[in-house]
Amino acid sequence: MSGKVLLWDMTREEAEEAFKEADFIVLPTGSMEQHSSHLPLSTDSIRAEELTEYLALHSDGLRMVVLPTLVYGQSLHHIHFPGTITLREETYIQVLRDIAWSVKQHGGRRLLIVNYHGGNMAPIELARMMIEREIGLKVYFVGWSSFAADLVREWFPGVPYGHACYYETSMILHFRPDLVDREKMRRQRQRQRHELQAPTHPLTRPPSAAYFEDEYPDGGIGDPTLARAELAERLIPIVTERIIKALKEDMKLE
Ligand SMILES: [Zn+2]
Repeated sequence: MSGKVLLWDMTREEAEEAFKEADFIVLPTGSMEQHSSHLPLSTDSIRAEELTEYLALHSDGLRMVVLPTLVYGQSLHHIHFPGTITLREETYIQVLRDIAWSVKQHGGRRLLIVNYHGGNMAPIELARMMIEREIGLKVYFVGWSSFAADLVREWFPGVPYGHACYYETSMILHFRPDLVDREKMRRQRQRQRHELQAPTHPLTRPPSAAYFEDEYPDGGIGDPTLARAELAERLIPIVTERIIKALKEDMKLE
């Protein structure tokens, strides 16, 4: 093995060997979409690139080859904000199928998708089943933030978090502080679409809006002014360890 984890850096011969030996061929998935007025459009893709490489370098014996980050995501709900570039759901599914097919040609045993953007989740779930049925490649799926949720909530109990919130802002303050516009950091407004008080029936219309601005006119959630780079630094090793442990346990179920 060359010791390299990024396919981007490998020669053909290095890739041939790495694909054969790898437990997981890993695809980081991000987005190119607005993240309120204080964060770059690349927020999810920066996290995808940095955190997935860190995962592969701290994998406790699991061998990983990391594919180039899929920086375009399914971001139709952000399209009215300037700069957002999106793939339609059907395009996104096709891109994943073609990447998986290529991985299979080179002898990859398992595809691991590590996702950093909520809008990608539904098309990934559909593509996952198509890939398993049609290409015969095992697909694992990790939402990085799902493994961090309890810790992120503990930082500021009761403060909403999500898109462009204190959590995502802390990550970019850690990895690319030069891209955070601190003067534009402010509490994000939320419009209540449904005043729901313990509904007694299943909802007939999901509470999430088709367009993000209908619920969050500033383009983000919660209070980014609470963000600190130290929060990200504390989180990263713990979440990485959790993900690796989960992968090892789930591999035993194959
Ligand atoms: Zn984001």
